[in-house]
Amino acid sequence: MGKFRIIYDRKACIGANACVVLDPQLFEMDKDGKANLIGGKKLADGTFELVTDARESIIESARGCPVEVIKVIDLETGKKIV
Ligand code: SF4
Repeated sequence: MGKFRIIYDRKACIGANACVVLDPQLFEMDKDGKANLIGGKKLADGTFELVTDARESIIESARGCPVEVIKVIDLETGKKIV
């Protein structure tokens, strides 16, 4: 099992909740109506980053976001999956 790097642009989240439903280990809703990337680290540009073990539900969660603010990179291949 490889690793995924997740980049999440929280500012652009519209609170559609799909990511939380598809991977509740990865995202939770916050009181301000936006999702939090659980364990994510805030980067200088305001996005959040997390490196974690690869799993299918991460891809589903990112693909489920209607405003495409969740990016997933496979660290083994360096390729952007979502
Ligand atoms: S699916 Fe996208 S818009 Fe909806 S809560 Fe998650 S990150 Fe935000």
